Amino acid sequence: MPAPELAPGSARLRTARSEVCGTDVHLWHGRLSGVPYPIIPGHVSAGTLEAIRGPLTGIDGSTLREGDRVAFFDVHRTCGRCRACTVHRTPTRCTARRVYGITDSATEGLFGGWAQAIYLEPGVGIARLPDAVGFDDYIGGGCGLLTAVHILERAALRPGDSVLVQGTGAVGLSTIALARLSGASTIVAIGAPRDRLAMAMRMGADHALDLAGTSREERLAKVHALTHGEGVDVAMEAAGSAAAIEEGLDLVRDGGRYIVAGHYTDVGDSAINAHRQINRKHLEIRGCWGSEPGHFLRALGFLERDAATVPWREIGGRTYPLTGLNEALADAEAMRLTKALVDPWAA
Ligand SMILES: [Zn+2]
Ligand SMILES: [Zn+2]
Repeated sequence: MPAPELAPGSARLRTARSEVCGTDVHLWHGRLSGVPYPIIPGHVSAGTLEAIRGPLTGIDGSTLREGDRVAFFDVHRTCGRCRACTVHRTPTRCTARRVYGITDSATEGLFGGWAQAIYLEPGVGIARLPDAVGFDDYIGGGCGLLTAVHILERAALRPGDSVLVQGTGAVGLSTIALARLSGASTIVAIGAPRDRLAMAMRMGADHALDLAGTSREERLAKVHALTHGEGVDVAMEAAGSAAAIEEGLDLVRDGGRYIVAGHYTDVGDSAINAHRQINRKHLEIRGCWGSEPGHFLRALGFLERDAATVPWREIGGRTYPLTGLNEALADAEAMRLTKALVDPWAA
């Protein structure tokens, strides 16, 4: 690829780290609609500003300089003028928005993280990484942490709420951590495989139930035993399976709240009973799509304050060079690690 010509207000990033997330596995198999292949994957990345055509202001208002360690918000070109942006105030549903590494075609340039350089076009939200936040801290949290910030916002968690998190991948693990930091009381995680359950406990869960080693009835009994026989106040789904929805609705108490965030791709229909699981329960169900610049900045805030005690860095299992990315995708798909990292400068 040619080096990008820098438009005023743009920059070239020297990529230090990118990641392989669940979405990349779906992209690999062509399971996400509307993707303008060929693409350079890698939507959440961090690195060093190598060249700036300035002046360049960070998303937090600070002046950015060449040599700064930064991360950038992968969503760009949100229009701010359409009905989704202005009338409904749901900018993650803006049809003009594009995402590095997902909806940006490689024919347009360096718009993905699995590359040694990334073109940060004018208007992209860039933030300096706090000194305490290493590249591996940031990318260990990665897109899962940004998503988790949004999930917690949608969950409107109250201090002392009991919480269920379904899924112990990168999104679920960060959701557990943020629920803990946000004042949850009992946090129950349901997930697999077994090594991720140990990680769920280290991220702040009180109980981690093995999806493979327990029955749905056993999990219901366990959740009821922990919640006065009622079910949790708030459940957050980060599992991405149709069965998780069917089960999760039963694990929330009457009048509770259920957040669906794991179905970023279409995994098929869930069979639910609307009378028993929603209407009679007086349940509130909310979806959660994408993230906004505020979630990105608040994720950085959590990392700055809490990365010393919350092991985000350890979510990253192994770092792959560009030549190892087919292997990284296969390892991610087979769940041999929670998250594969990418160092495009590694041999
Ligand atoms: Zn992702
Ligand atoms: Zn818009």
